[in-house]
Formats: sequence, structure tokens, C-alpha cells
Amino acid sequence: SNMRLILFFSALAGASWCLETFLDFWLHPSNPALPVDIRVPFPSLQPVKVFLESHHIEYSILLEDLQVEKKEEKQEMVNNQRRERGTSNFNYGAYHPLESIYAALDDLAAEYPSLVSKQEIGESYEKRPMYILKFSTGGTSRSAIWLDAGIHSREWITQATALWTAQKIASEYGNNPSVTSLLNRMDIFLLVVTNPDGYAFTHTNNRMWRKTRSKNSGSLCVGVDPNRNWDAGFGGPGASTNPCSESYHGPSANSEVEVKNVVNFIKSHGKIKAFLTLHSYSQLLLFPFGYKCTNPADYNELDTVGKAAASALASLYGTTYKVGTICSTIYQASGGSIDWSYDYGIKYSFAFELRDTGRYGFLLPASQIIPTAEETWLGLLKIMEHVRDNQS
Ligand SMILES: [Zn+2]
Repeated sequence: SNMRLILFFSALAGASWCLETFLDFWLHPSNPALPVDIRVPFPSLQPVKVFLESHHIEYSILLEDLQVEKKEEKQEMVNNQRRERGTSNFNYGAYHPLESIYAALDDLAAEYPSLVSKQEIGESYEKRPMYILKFSTGGTSRSAIWLDAGIHSREWITQATALWTAQKIASEYGNNPSVTSLLNRMDIFLLVVTNPDGYAFTHTNNRMWRKTRSKNSGSLCVGVDPNRNWDAGFGGPGASTNPCSESYHGPSANSEVEVKNVVNFIKSHGKIKAFLTLHSYSQLLLFPFGYKCTNPADYNELDTVGKAAASALASLYGTTYKVGTICSTIYQASGGSIDWSYDYGIKYSFAFELRDTGRYGFLLPASQIIPTAEETWLGLLKIMEHVRDNQS
């Protein structure tokens, strides 16, 4: 069994290097004034308590036993599958295994054939196809918006939100004037499951799996952090050289085929005007940079658009987001996707960290999927409207 601690550190930075290898940091040390969330495997529990107490580090226990939350999550999925059986109604308010998500993509394309099509952009390390949905009303060489989710596989709220968003875009065209005018001028590409191997593994073996599933030569530890693997300050601060770390950057930039497939698609398309990516959790709306702590040239515009998006998001259920650069809001982190896209020339590069702020963390109950997706949509739409009206 696992326990989750929330730690109030004033000087965790020094301690974290030794904790890193045998603990799972859900929230890494950032601002010294902010707490840190750590999952502690049962065998490490006593030594960790002794360590913390001997260093006079204040802590509290957020979740006693993650197995309980995981069991509830699993039971809900089983119940949902039973309910769905024999009906054509996909339940967007439930978590689904990869096969069900992929089937839902086909169903959407079949339901909206003049708007939605499915394309494969390549295969994962374990040879699973990576599918994007293209939302397009026609035209040739239109500019486009990119949206992806689930690059970190355990962040289940992101794949679920992306899938809900897919049906939202499809059903709003022709009904919502804003979406209609957007799709009359631009296309949208949506990658619901960016890390399919990791996602499958979170269902079969380890719910807390974050990385890819590639083998690391010379190590028994598997996987690379695909959001430290992009060619943006690769190998710099906030990424690990240790293959056993949750933030291992990999042997080289784009070593992970899942990253490479997205990079190839974006480059070959050539007219992507916005790069939006969904993560969880923390309720943040982030923009470049992460690999360095200088502000981007478009800081003022990105900050203004980000704040407008966060306020639209908050208008529905009062969910508050912090807005800012990765470096100033969380910590310096190199090799991230939105830094790569921004440096590549895609000005509107944003990362959402969805609900919550730590009560459930990655195990956000399914009852929060639809509210999260609904509010996130308002933030996404605000950004997309700005892109539509300001694309150069
Ligand atoms: Zn993430």
C-alpha cells in the first residue's frame, strides 16, 4: 500500500536529490513557500518519517492508502462498462481503457463525416497506433490549432477531457457562432492519447506510470519522461540523467518515437499557429519558457491571453488557475513540448495543468471529468478565438 504525504518544506531542494530515487514526487519542490506532494511506497514509510522528523520538516498525510482510491476508480470503470454494454452511448463522464477511447474516435468520425476524420501519425515504441482527429470544413493549406493530452500517462483527467472536447468541437460546429467561425477559417488537430504505451500500462500494471515504455540500455529501469525529451534546452535543469527517475530526459532529444511523431507532424504541416497541451494536476495555465527563466518576446500578449482564458475557465465553477511562465510559476524544467513549439515559431504555446490542487491529484474522481472538461473548454476556446483573430 502507498501513502501520500504533503510536505511543507522550507529547504527541500537539498533533500530532494536523495529522496528522488525511491519516492515518487507528484509535485516537485518549486517555490520554497509551497508544499510538495510525495507518494511514499510502503517499505519506505518508516525511513521517510524518521528522515522528516529528524530534519524538523513539517508534513501531513493527504491520502492514507492510495489502494483505496485506486480500487474505487477501478470499480467505477467496471460498473460503467457494464452500463455501456449494448448501448451506443459512450460515457464521457467515465475513465476508459485505450481500446474504448480509440473506438470512440472512430464513432466521432462516423457521426460527423463532413467535419471529423481520423489520421495515424505513427506508432508508439510498443507499436500502438497514434491517432489524431482532424476537424476541418475544407479548404486547402489552412492554418491550424494543435491540441494534445496524456503525454504523461497517469494524468487520466487529460485524456478524458480531450475526448469530451472532441465531441464538443464536433457538436458545436454550426450551433456555436464562435466555433463555427473558427472552423470556417482554421483546422483543429487533436491527439487524445500522446503516450499510448504508458496509458495502456496505467490500466494493466501501474496506475501511477508517467513515462514512455521504451527500454533504456544499461539500466533495468524503463521509460523516458516524454515531456523532458523535446529539443528545447534538452538535458538542462529540471530533467534527470538517471533512467530510473520519473523525469529522465532520455538519451537524446526526440529519442522517444511518440515525441518524434508529433514533431514530424507539426513540421510537415507547416501552418500550426497554436500548440496547446493538457497535463494534470495543479490548476495552472503555463507558457514558455521552462528551460530558461527569461521571459519570451511575446510575454505580454501570452500573459494577457492566458489570464483571459483562466478567467473564462473560472466563470463556470469558480476553479482558479494561476497563469505565468513555467519557470516563474513552477520551476525550471528543460525539454518540454511548449518550449519546443514556441522556439519553432508557434507563438501561442500553452500548457494547462488541470484539476485539482492535490486533494486527489492524479486520482481525480470520474465525477469531476465533465465539470473539468466543461470549464477547460471555456479556457481553450478563449485562446482559440484569439488565435483565429490574430494569426499572422
Ligand atoms: Zn504532466
